[in-house]
Amino acid sequence: MDIHEYQAKEILARFGVPVPRGGLAYSPEQAGYRARELGGSAWVVKAQIHSGGRGAAGGVKLCRSEAEVQEFAATLFGRQLVTKQTDANGKGVYRLWVEGASDIKQELYLGFVLDRKSERIMIVASAHGGMEIEDLAENDPNSLRRMTIDPAVGLSEFQARELAFQLGLKGGQIAQMVNILRACYRAYRDLDAMMVEINPLVITGAGDLVALDAKMSFDTNALFRRPEIAELRDRSQEDPRESTAGDHGLAYVGLDGDIGCIINGAGLAMATMDMIKLAGGEPANFLDIGGGASPERVVRAFRTVLADRNVGVILVNIFAGINRCDWVAQGVVQAYRELGLTLPVVVRLAGTNVEEGRRIVQESGLPLITADTLEDAARKAVATRQKIAA
Ligand code: GDP
Ligand code: MN
Repeated sequence: MDIHEYQAKEILARFGVPVPRGGLAYSPEQAGYRARELGGSAWVVKAQIHSGGRGAAGGVKLCRSEAEVQEFAATLFGRQLVTKQTDANGKGVYRLWVEGASDIKQELYLGFVLDRKSERIMIVASAHGGMEIEDLAENDPNSLRRMTIDPAVGLSEFQARELAFQLGLKGGQIAQMVNILRACYRAYRDLDAMMVEINPLVITGAGDLVALDAKMSFDTNALFRRPEIAELRDRSQEDPRESTAGDHGLAYVGLDGDIGCIINGAGLAMATMDMIKLAGGEPANFLDIGGGASPERVVRAFRTVLADRNVGVILVNIFAGINRCDWVAQGVVQAYRELGLTLPVVVRLAGTNVEEGRRIVQESGLPLITADTLEDAARKAVATRQKIAA
């Protein structure tokens, strides 16, 4: 789960990371008021959306008067901001962060991620920040420093100092960097984060380190024990198809293809997508209906998949353990009736109550295409799709 920049800054500040002073605004007037409240003569107005690349997309601006703050804020509110990291719809801007402008001498990059290979939290840092990590990795890979953290020891001071030296920091900046690194590490570990990124971490004209941007994302599976983090969820930033599906116990991710998938189990869903590709097709989505799916949940899965206009054929692939093939089959039949389904549906059922499931499919009289194996199902789905398209 992602959170906003201002929320990440508030969290990191609590752990000891220096951030600029700022205030949140829900209207242009409030943005102007925030600038006055903060004082000074220059402010940065920043669209709060769950995406980076806002600067290049026109979502961040340095303003030199209260009027300019209000004016810029008025252009942002309610807009769909499209960045390099969003899809073509962009993300809606409903909150702005106004902060006192910083005097930037140098921009650094600092990120904490989970490195699956070493099974450890890894720090990635560069003395040349500002640009996105993907661009940094491409344009300036030699500037990247990596360091993994032993979970039994934590981030030790000597390790943090070593990294500060590698980044070319001097004098008091080294102690500041050690504090920032250890604060980020504690925030990451103590809050079940998946990612902490400060880009840019700047050196100011006065020579101090300050986090000008902050990004955090959290392990959704741990949210049950982090109610204060769960509260930060902002549904306006989510794909409505995915969050609505989630509300009904479905794990859905929209993709670009045209073969709609209704599967049980994330592993089987991934394998089915692979088989579709192998057979020459493209999946329209990832969808895991979960265990013990009722006919109603199966109908809901059809609804979710059909909301995608690209879908030309639906593949239902169930390997029932906790699930029951007869319930899934009932759901398929019910979906045909309730939704007035006209698309071809390929059904492959295996496991618990499979005979009963197949009987329901056969006796339904519906134009269902049955398949015995995963491979068979994927081939039939792709062939059916190609036949329609031709
Ligand atoms: P992002 O593009 O979504 O990652 O948003 P950032 O918060 O990183 O802001 C984009 C860019 O705006 C930064 O890389 C800075 O160059 C610039 N910026 C942000 N805050 C300030 C500031 O206080 N002063 C100045 N001069 N530039 C800023
Ligand atoms: Mn940034």
